[in-house]
Amino acid sequence: MRADLHIHTTASDGCWSPEQLVAEIQARSIGLFAVADHDTIASLPRCEALARSAGLAFLPGVEISTRCDERLFHVLAYGFDQRHPLLHDMLVENRAKLTTVGDFLIHRLWHEGYGIDLEEYAAYQYDAARGGWKTFNFLVDHGFCADVREYSEKFREHLAATLPAFPHPAEAVTVIRAAGGVPILAHPGASLRSVGVAEKTLHPFLGFGIAGLECYSSYHDVETTRFCLAWCARHDLLVTGGSDCHGGFVGRELGVPVVESDDLRLGELAERAGLAELNRL
Ligand SMILES: [Zn+2]
Ligand SMILES: [Zn+2]
Repeated sequence: MRADLHIHTTASDGCWSPEQLVAEIQARSIGLFAVADHDTIASLPRCEALARSAGLAFLPGVEISTRCDERLFHVLAYGFDQRHPLLHDMLVENRAKLTTVGDFLIHRLWHEGYGIDLEEYAAYQYDAARGGWKTFNFLVDHGFCADVREYSEKFREHLAATLPAFPHPAEAVTVIRAAGGVPILAHPGASLRSVGVAEKTLHPFLGFGIAGLECYSSYHDVETTRFCLAWCARHDLLVTGGSDCHGGFVGRELGVPVVESDDLRLGELAERAGLAELNRL
């Protein structure tokens, strides 16, 4: 069964509503999927209901922003209680930080003489089906950048200087586990790009309490995937995988890399996704 455990919707910065997403999942014959929006679980109830009526295996997920050694790490949570208060509070705080950092960037650019009308920015709204977030779409609409690539290159220094005080990965792991969820380090090859994926750079995450790695990722080359798989086997950890597809936004394709559920090691998540039930059919 094909699987994709890392997909975004319009609840964060993806282009697809839950309805569009499930239609795309079915069109690609993916049997198991998880939605993992950035710091929000707003799409999960609808996705869950649609998955159930379509007979698809589904895992509730969320991609939590964390910070360690001045670097951003995304920690994926799967199979948690969606009403857990600690998780809820962490997500609310993270979203507020994301909004603040966007506002801060705009103010800095205004200070530097960019032709930005702050009142217009405050009132600005955009169509969620475009993907992205408020600051990004505002800058695109006003001709300051053309796409995500140009946004991150042009404002690299500004963005590095405004990395929000997200919780430490260990703190996110504690909250995810308190909510009955399973914490997985997302796309290590992307988060550790500057220092490399290696025993030394991954080792701290064992101490932080992660349960596994997103070994299969659109960011990974064959070598990185192989290293992550061996590392998980060595430390008896779970193995997940996903495309990090945002619909048409940022151009990562749904279901790529192609992963079969048998390639993954999901532990208790397999049952929570309803895989055992589907296999009996
Ligand atoms: Zn991510
Ligand atoms: Zn993602």
